[in-house]
Amino acid sequence: MKSDRECDKCRKNQAVNVCIGCHAAICETCSQYELFGSGCGCVFPAYYCPTCAEDPNRNPFAIQNRPEKSPE
Ligand SMILES: [Zn+2]
Ligand SMILES: [Zn+2]
Repeated sequence: MKSDRECDKCRKNQAVNVCIGCHAAICETCSQYELFGSGCGCVFPAYYCPTCAEDPNRNPFAIQNRPEKSPE
């Protein structure tokens, strides 16, 4: 699919994805790919903009994906 919309984040590249956190149009470079897994074994891909990828309020996996978790 072709779109003329530019990336909402860097405004340099053509947007190819939509952030599911804030619905910003994002280019391939700005897209942060996440795999959502639910308990039933279903996994589906999602794209976040760089802002939402770092925001635990929008991306519940933002913390989970960080390696530097405090050890128990
Ligand atoms: Zn971009
Ligand atoms: Zn976003």
